Amino acid sequence: MDLEQILHEITQDMATRPDRGRVANYIPQLACIDPDQFAISVCLADGTQYSCGDADMSFSIQSVSKVFALALALGRVGDHLWTRVGREPSGQAFDSILLLEQEKGRPRNPFINAGAIVTTDTYLEGHSPAEALGGLMRFVREAADDEDIHIDDSVARSEIATGHRNFALAHYMLSHGNLRHAPDLTLGTYFHQCAIAMNTAQLARAGRFLMNSPDLVRMLSPGRVRRINALMITCGQYDGSGDFAYRVGLPGKSGVGGGILVIAPGQASIAVWSPGLNHYGNSHLGTLAVETLARDTGWSIFG
Ligand code: GLU
Repeated sequence: MDLEQILHEITQDMATRPDRGRVANYIPQLACIDPDQFAISVCLADGTQYSCGDADMSFSIQSVSKVFALALALGRVGDHLWTRVGREPSGQAFDSILLLEQEKGRPRNPFINAGAIVTTDTYLEGHSPAEALGGLMRFVREAADDEDIHIDDSVARSEIATGHRNFALAHYMLSHGNLRHAPDLTLGTYFHQCAIAMNTAQLARAGRFLMNSPDLVRMLSPGRVRRINALMITCGQYDGSGDFAYRVGLPGKSGVGGGILVIAPGQASIAVWSPGLNHYGNSHLGTLAVETLARDTGWSIFG
């Protein structure tokens, strides 16, 4: 298998696709991103990395950050987190409030917005937002082995000004006693977390701790890594999770910035980025690209 050649062919193929999806426009700062960009990067277990396309262009990782937040929160409070958040796919959109009412303010999983807000609320416990975000950034930079990763404050501010649904989710959970901080404090932290900017090559490196490589167990125990991967495959693409598992067969986490982090357990950490989204809010070409990659490499966990 010539991985470099596979990535090159995928990048060429994606450049010719007329349907590139639609960029997220509910966050004003993301509405102006050029949809013609595409990048893919793969880190292998032996430490080698191959990248193709616009792999050094920085983008807003948005909900991909929920994986790092979950790892941090589990490290802090362990399984206690599951008293406040479930582990079931929601079958609903990323920002849905529907099931929260039925389930008395306990979100279905940590990857939908409501669940991620509780996860942020958990790692915020005992810290100021600046300290909490500092801890998260230390984790992300250590994972990527790169100090040059930052939060794009203009994206965070853009969401603070327009994130009415997230405020509704936070207030609803607070009314059920499932938020420990004032909504503007937790959401201020959450929006800054979502506004972490990385390029595709950095994101692939930051995901290596999730492929269970023995040199990164200091970041998270193998048991936790296994469970985060399980949540990624069942819940990582919102109501498109079943379709993603069917087409790609690998755990992944998407963000509305058009990035997807995908893990081939024991083999590779893969990042793909293309800003146009499909109707689930996941990168349209990104999904297509990792579907091709999984097929050509035989990396699907289903054989
Ligand atoms: N910051 C975004 C929101 O809360 C994240 C959504 C996503 O990336 O799926 O709406």
